[in-house]
Amino acid sequence: MAGLTKEKMNAVTEAYAGSLFVRAILENQLDIGKAEKLRIDEIEDLTDKLMMIETEKYEILLYILSKGTASISQLKDALGLSEFTIMKHILTLENEGWLELRDKDNLVYGIRTLITEIDGALELELISPWNLRTVYDPINIVVESNLCCLCGACEAICPVKAITISDDRPHIDEEKCIHCGLCNYHCPRTLMPLNILKTFVNGPQSSYFQDLKEQPFGPYRILKSASTQSEKIKEVCQDGGMVTTFLQYLFDKNEIDGAIVVKRQPNSWNTMPVIVTNVDELLEASGTKYAVSPTFLAFDKAREAGCKKLAFVGTPCQVQAIRKYQVYSNIYENIWGTIEYVIGIFCMETFAYENVIKISEEFCNTPIANVSKMDINKGKFFVYDLNKNAVEVPIKEVTSLARHACHYCVDLTNELADISCGSIGSGPGWSTVVVRSEKGEKLYNSALNENYFQVKDIPVDKPFGVPLIEKLANGKRTRNFKGLLKILDKAPPYYFNSLNQIFKVEEK
Ligand SMILES: Cc1cc2nc3c(=O)[nH]c(=O)nc-3n(C[C@H](O)[C@H](O)[C@H](O)COP(=O)(O)OP(=O)(O)OC[C@H]3O[C@@H](n4cnc5c(N)ncnc54)[C@H](O)[C@@H]3O)c2cc1C
Repeated sequence: MAGLTKEKMNAVTEAYAGSLFVRAILENQLDIGKAEKLRIDEIEDLTDKLMMIETEKYEILLYILSKGTASISQLKDALGLSEFTIMKHILTLENEGWLELRDKDNLVYGIRTLITEIDGALELELISPWNLRTVYDPINIVVESNLCCLCGACEAICPVKAITISDDRPHIDEEKCIHCGLCNYHCPRTLMPLNILKTFVNGPQSSYFQDLKEQPFGPYRILKSASTQSEKIKEVCQDGGMVTTFLQYLFDKNEIDGAIVVKRQPNSWNTMPVIVTNVDELLEASGTKYAVSPTFLAFDKAREAGCKKLAFVGTPCQVQAIRKYQVYSNIYENIWGTIEYVIGIFCMETFAYENVIKISEEFCNTPIANVSKMDINKGKFFVYDLNKNAVEVPIKEVTSLARHACHYCVDLTNELADISCGSIGSGPGWSTVVVRSEKGEKLYNSALNENYFQVKDIPVDKPFGVPLIEKLANGKRTRNFKGLLKILDKAPPYYFNSLNQIFKVEEK
């Protein structure tokens, strides 16, 4: 790119600026104000944060444009940004079609844009079938290609309340949409740079491109079977009650003033994301509901409740959205920025509520009103009636009723949580606990020292324990990644591309 003239560079940056979500936010301040979602100071903060993100990205792009290619260490020296910051923006710029990796060993990136002069006018051509416009389109395309995991992040993030979740999908009100692209930018089914997010959670990784297969269920510091010591929690929990136990400890020590969890709707097994502010309310949310939960919708309730220090409980897709937000934007700081702890639950799949009813009533002959517990274990879906009698159906008979999006998810064990809890690998009444972050480690050790729970080792010999977790985690990842390959012609490529960099499988 030597010899790039100032005009050419200006043309590039102007085209780039035209796509910025900052512009949409600035041009639509009136609509954002009218929507009454954000206060004036929050709109200002939103604008400032987006400006900062775009300025950093813009500086990186300009530097590489001026040199033709640049390594991460050159960018670090020239721009004074951390390697992590540069890397995260580089992946976005690559996703947008601007950059490409030229030398993986030395992390050298080059421009992927053709600049040509046609009849005296400068034309920009991104060498990508998808262009900047679609990168920042509203998330309709994610929904239409069945990738939407219904976490609710898009509705929660939309500054003009143009997105509403109903009937198992987000709906976009075109009249209200200002095309800022924030829903797309935060969606866990667009760009999903797992290794960057893992570095944020677990500390430096050996490589930004480390193959996911090298860590079958993600990096961790501690792996144990654990069971709560609280009789109250034992009565209501799903497995070892560890999710509720960690949250109880955090409430007891005033480490949090609220937790975003999922309750059952009254007289139903449908989900209701809520904010709980004490242990009694927390106990009401224990236990697994297999219906999907747009958990992000509870953030507004947390804000109304005035919470300043939150814990968030979620499935892997929901936790991916949280981490993407924390690394890539940090907007709405007094709403989402208050998350102190992320407790993840393992998840193979979730179901639309109508299919939960179907499993209970058609497959297990139990009216949904008479269900006391549901559980997936050892390849079977169990439905317990009010007398605790179980009726079971092999999971393979009901897998087709799971949400489509779950068949494209590559994370079983919640690899981005501070602490993840599941049942695979541990016996009845015990949870498998995977401690991943430094913060999670402190929480685990302090609660253990104070006798909140008991622990034992997870067997390491086949076919149980650790090998089983590895087998199922790898199985989900491989199966679902192959599934993604099959829908590539319909789906936006961002999610696939970012995973493909770190998880390649042969298509058979
Ligand atoms: C849809 C779904 C599928 C799952 N699939 C598997 C699996 O394949 N393998 C496995 O080992 N474990 C799976 N789990 C996790 C398992 O069922 C337990 O949640 C986990 O072992 C924690 O048990 P616990 O006793 O520590 O939790 P508890 O102390 O009982 O707390 C459970 C927590 O889960 C939250 N929760 C309940 N339902 C939902 C929901 N729909 N969405 C988000 N949060 C919710 C509640 O807010 C509560 O805080 C799944 C969970 C869900 C929700």
